[in-house]
Amino acid sequence: MPELPEVETVRAVLAREVIGKKIKLVHVTDGRAVRRHKTAKDFRTLLEGRVIKSVERLGKNIVVGLDNGHHLVIHLGMTGQVLRAKNAKEPRPKHTHVVLSFTTGDELRYVDQRTFGELYVSVPPTDDQGVEISKFARLSIGGDGLNVRRHVPELAHLGIDPFEDQVGWDRFAAVLRSRTLGLKTLLTDQDIMAGLGNIYADEILFSAGLMYDRVSESLSTIEIRRLHRTIPEVLAEAIKHGGTTLSDETFVNPDGEPGRYQELLQVHTRDGQPCLQCRAPVSKVVFHQRATYFCAKCQG
Ligand SMILES: [Zn+2]
Repeated sequence: MPELPEVETVRAVLAREVIGKKIKLVHVTDGRAVRRHKTAKDFRTLLEGRVIKSVERLGKNIVVGLDNGHHLVIHLGMTGQVLRAKNAKEPRPKHTHVVLSFTTGDELRYVDQRTFGELYVSVPPTDDQGVEISKFARLSIGGDGLNVRRHVPELAHLGIDPFEDQVGWDRFAAVLRSRTLGLKTLLTDQDIMAGLGNIYADEILFSAGLMYDRVSESLSTIEIRRLHRTIPEVLAEAIKHGGTTLSDETFVNPDGEPGRYQELLQVHTRDGQPCLQCRAPVSKVVFHQRATYFCAKCQG
């Protein structure tokens, strides 16, 4: 399932390719992809004729700013892909649910095998008072995250985004100490931390030398500082390599290219293989129905 680095990879291509373009027509072939709207026509009407002004990201959501102050939000779910096409003649892949055609003749296609992902147009609230922003995100002292939440109320509940919300290690410590959750559960709870999932939680916890089930409030100051520093380091490295495409997954960027970070994974999917730090075999357990990978020697 696409996590922050994959979503950021898609965002970066879209920011380069679609800002300034005008949406001419919207075609919805599977209404489940726009299920927040009463009808597909409602969704289309909100988009047709609009010019794209910005492409941002919050957690696992792509947030496309329109010239009337509304936002198109795209969540890739489990298997969603956003693909560019030079023109309408390029054959549409199977499972194409939504097509945005620009006045320039090119298209964006939303393709989703399992249709857990979705697109919707968010209308900003008329007064800020109405939006209740996540108490974790409110710890932020900078970044664009709070602004996105103010304008897109559907995303106001999201917890700390490791890049869009600036939260220092001391405030991060307060979050960890306010919870008695296992670290992996805490890191992947979108209402506490936004953007992490199964792959990067495993990789971050390995790099920070912490076990997935360590209780968050039990961490020492040194461990908290290490975890706080490791989260953006691991994610930035994954973004640099275009995200992760595992053999059983469908992630590709809008140009159809898979990620390259799977070759650099330290523990995730490497059970039985030697740990890259200590050579002991990497372990795998099923934790809360998710496969979890770790090195019992390097993580404590
Ligand atoms: Zn090890």
